[in-house]
Amino acid sequence: AEVEERGVQSAEKTVIQAVHKELFIDGKWRASSTGRSLPVEDPSTGEVLCEVADAGVEDGLAALDAAVAAQKDWAAYAPRERGEILRRAYQLLLDRADDLALLMTLEMGKPVAEAKGEITYAAEFFRWFAEEAVRIDGGYATAPNGQGRFLVMRQPVGPCLLITPWNFPMAMGTRKLGPAIAAGCTVVIKPAEQTPLSMLALTDILAEAGLPAGVLNVLTTSDPGPVMEPLIKDGRIRKISFTGSTAVGKILLAQAADKVLRTSMELGGNAPFLVFDDADLDVAVEGAMMAKTRNMGEACTAANRFYVQRGVAQEFGRRLTSRMAELKVGRGTEEGVKIGPLIDNDAIAKVVELVADATAAGAKVLTGGSTVDGPGHFYPPTVLTDVPRDARMGREEIFGPVAPISVFDTEDEVIAAANDTEFGLVSYVFTTNINRALRVSERLEAGMIGLNTGLVSNPAAPFGGVKQSGVGREGGRIGIEEFLEVKYVAVGLS
Ligand code: NAD
Repeated sequence: AEVEERGVQSAEKTVIQAVHKELFIDGKWRASSTGRSLPVEDPSTGEVLCEVADAGVEDGLAALDAAVAAQKDWAAYAPRERGEILRRAYQLLLDRADDLALLMTLEMGKPVAEAKGEITYAAEFFRWFAEEAVRIDGGYATAPNGQGRFLVMRQPVGPCLLITPWNFPMAMGTRKLGPAIAAGCTVVIKPAEQTPLSMLALTDILAEAGLPAGVLNVLTTSDPGPVMEPLIKDGRIRKISFTGSTAVGKILLAQAADKVLRTSMELGGNAPFLVFDDADLDVAVEGAMMAKTRNMGEACTAANRFYVQRGVAQEFGRRLTSRMAELKVGRGTEEGVKIGPLIDNDAIAKVVELVADATAAGAKVLTGGSTVDGPGHFYPPTVLTDVPRDARMGREEIFGPVAPISVFDTEDEVIAAANDTEFGLVSYVFTTNINRALRVSERLEAGMIGLNTGLVSNPAAPFGGVKQSGVGREGGRIGIEEFLEVKYVAVGLS
C-alpha cells in the first residue's frame, strides 16, 4: 500500500512538473517582469502545489503588443489551416486526457472522473469550431431599386481579451479560444488566479498543434483588475469575452464602454428547477442530481432553487435526500468520491451563511447542513425543505452542493417565482405534459431551458443568458459570430 501511495503522489508531482509556469507571450515562455510568483493551492488540503509567474502591467502590455502584431497575418491564414490547428489540439487534449484531468483535480478539486469529462467537453469545442472555421461566409444581393449591389463580408473582430473563471478551468478556455482561433482573431487570455495550470497545459498543446507565435498570449496574475484595465483602456483590444461573476462583468462592461468595445458576458445564474405533479420522478431526481451535484454545485448552471408541486413534493424530497446522502465526499483523486472540496474558505463561509439564514427562517435540514472537519474546504451534500421564498439562497448563487426545496400549487405561481430574479441563465422543467412543457418553456425568462434533463451544456448549442446573466452566446452556429465583424460593401453597378 505504501508503494502504491508513493506511486500516486509521484503521478501528481509529474503532472505538475510538466507544466510551464511562466507567461506565454509572442510564442515564447517568459518570466514575469514583476519577479513575483503566484502560489497555486490544492483545495482538498490547502497546501501549495507550485507557483506560477505573476504578471504585472508591463507584461500585460507586452502580451497586447504581440497579439496586435500577429493579427494581420493570422487573419490572412487559410480558414482550413486554422481549423486544422484546432483539430490537432482536439486530438492532443484527448490523448492527454488522463494527465490533464489529474492536473485539473489538483488545482480545482473536482473528482477526477468529472475532470476527465470536462477535458472531453473542452476538446469538443475545438472539434466543433475546427469545422466552423471553413463555414464563415457572407452575402450578395441586389439593391431593392435594382440599381447597385450589396456585398456582405465577415471578418475577424481583431485582437480579443478573454477572461475565464476557476470552476471549469479548461472548458471555459476552449469555449472562447475555439471560436476566436477559427474566426482569425489573436488573443490575450487570463485564466483565474485559483486555476492557472489547466490553461498553461492547454497553451503547450496549442503551440504543439502549430498555432503561430503571437496568436495566443497567456497571462497569469494575482492582480487581475490593475493588470487588465490598461489593456482594455489601451484601445487596441477590439473585444472582451468574459466568463465569471456578474459583479466583475459590470466592471468590465463599464471599462469597455470607454472604447465602445464589443463584449460577450457569461455571468452568474440562479437556476430554478421546476418539478410538476405529472413529471417522471425518476427522470426528475436524476436531473436534479446532475444539475445540483455536478462540479460540487459550483456551476453557473447549477440548480439553485427547487420548486416541487404539492402532489409529489414529499416523494421527490425523500428520493433526492437518499441519493444525496449516499454521495462520497473527499479528495477528488480518491476512488469513488463524488463531492470534492469547494474552491476556498470564502466559498465554504458563503454556503454556511446561506444555510444558517434559511434554517433561521424555518427551513428544515433533510441531510447534510454542517461543515466537515479537516484542512480541505469540504461541505457535505445537503437538502433543505420548507425554504421560505425570500431566503437569501433564493436570490444569490449558492455555489455548493445544497438543494433548497419549496412547494408550489399552480403553474402561474411557480412561473412568477421562477422569474422573480435578476438572473436568467438556465431554468429546468420536469413534466410529461407536452403542452405544459412548451407553455412553461416559453414563459421562463432564461437563455436556456433544461426540459426533462439536468444538463444543457453542449458545444453544438448556443450557451448564454438573459437579464444579468449576460450578453451573447457561446458554442453552436452562433458562437463564431461573436468573433466576426460584418462589413457591407455598397457596389455601384453600371
Ligand atoms: P470572478 O468574477 O471572481 O472571476 C472571474 C475572472 O475574472 C477571473 O479570471 C478573475 O481573475 C477575473 N477578474 C476578477 N476581477 C477582475 C477585474 N477587476 N478585472 C478583470 N478581471 C477580473 O468569478 P469566479 O468566482 O472565478 O467564477 C464564478 C462565477 O462565474 C459565478 O458567478 C458563475 O456563475 C460564473 N460563471 C458563469 C458561467 C457562464 O457561462 N455564464 C460559467 C462559469 C462560471
